Amino acid sequence: MADRYQRFSTSPLGRTLVRKLGLPSPAPLRRHRPGDPVVAGQVLVGSAEDGRLAKIATAILTGAGVEVLTTPPEGDARFAAIVFDATGITDSAKLQDLHRFFQPVIRRLGPCGRVIVLGTPPSDCADTKEATAQRALEGFTRSLGKEVKRGATVQLVYVAPGAEDGIASTLRFFVSDRSAFVSGQVVHVGAAEVSEPEDWERPLAGKTALVTGASRGIGAAIAELLARDGASVVCLDVPAQGDELAEVANRVGGSTLQLDITALDAPARIAEHFAQRHGGVDVVVHNAGVLRDKTLGKMDEQRWDSVIAVNLSAQERINDALLGGVLRPGGRIIGVSSIAGIAGNFGQTNYATSKAGVIGMVQSLAPSLARNGSTINAVAPGFIETKMTASIPLFTREMGRRLSSLAQGGLPVDVAETIAWYANPGSAGVNGNVVRVCGQSLLGA
Ligand code: NAD
Repeated sequence: MADRYQRFSTSPLGRTLVRKLGLPSPAPLRRHRPGDPVVAGQVLVGSAEDGRLAKIATAILTGAGVEVLTTPPEGDARFAAIVFDATGITDSAKLQDLHRFFQPVIRRLGPCGRVIVLGTPPSDCADTKEATAQRALEGFTRSLGKEVKRGATVQLVYVAPGAEDGIASTLRFFVSDRSAFVSGQVVHVGAAEVSEPEDWERPLAGKTALVTGASRGIGAAIAELLARDGASVVCLDVPAQGDELAEVANRVGGSTLQLDITALDAPARIAEHFAQRHGGVDVVVHNAGVLRDKTLGKMDEQRWDSVIAVNLSAQERINDALLGGVLRPGGRIIGVSSIAGIAGNFGQTNYATSKAGVIGMVQSLAPSLARNGSTINAVAPGFIETKMTASIPLFTREMGRRLSSLAQGGLPVDVAETIAWYANPGSAGVNGNVVRVCGQSLLGA
């Protein structure tokens, strides 16, 4: 679904003007369709000396039916993805390996290509020199994300020692078209007991999921994708959205729960619903959210309170109720933050406070959830094409779309795919992460 500028910029006249004037050039992004291969094309896997992950990455990709090359063949054939194991880079001199490996091959990355650099979390490194070199990888991947063109993306995945066998779901996600709008991100995979799904096309078979704010926009897309992945989805929204909610639930073969999550009895009603009708819940997605923008000096108390109540306090209260035994072991809680919660935004002190709070909630709950194999993570969407963003004035809307490496808005499905990766049983080591789904927006870190 290309926006108007994107269509113009790919027309013969548009292409010439874009090149001459140095305007943003948004490439059409390829997105996953059911039945697509994990990667359509060859993947080049390289490694610094003594890397501990190249062999595992190769085995995962080969097992997923991907054709892996370990040396670039002669000629100019393009790669669908390039994976580099940088865990052997133990001091700054060895950072030269990045240049040596990538410089000759980076221009052979195909359209919508993927680059994944695997590293060791600096906090797990043996000494200061190794920690310094591993931290340096962030600068490399974030810059490369800004250089690669034609819809390509770049990520850094830090894999803790002991987590080597738990990276399949993460590698499969970032190497595939499912991560079309995620770029320049730094992801952590920790050691955990991982049970990989029997069927990667339906990893959530037999699981029950709750999606709040599911009647439209991003929430509806999340409900659709979790159902695609096999979950039985309970779609929650306010009674006023009842008709739209029922439509979504019918489409995904799920059920509805109509309530206002800020109501005092909402957490107890949700917990009771899942305990009685489903015997528990496996995946909870806190997607419901509201905007009440005003600069602080003009913001009344109601605007402040209502945003904090929906976007943050309700999530905390629902978590408290579900963590009393309703969330099953191996459960997944996923918060929806925003790049405004990372970078701040004009007129959004209330919204950004609530969305930064979501990040705080995720990071502080993660260690205790890990004890029974559960996880909590957040997505931080950037500019996503929904009713909400369609109402933004034209100039601001164009800035939101173009000021990112991919130079376009994302789709609700892009946020949903990232949430589906968190929800995957194979992602047990992915805990406490905040991944921006923003096409590497220039807003935020
Ligand atoms: P949307 O307004 O289209 O959908 C939000 C849904 O939440 C609506 O269906 C609404 O009825 C529901 N909701 C609101 N208050 C509720 C309450 N008290 N109880 C139950 N349901 C309630 O918004 P969207 O664009 O789809 O955004 C979804 C989430 O993504 C929000 O948390 C939003 O802050 C976040 N987000 C969106 C963007 C974007 O670009 N669209 C960017 C960053 C973050």
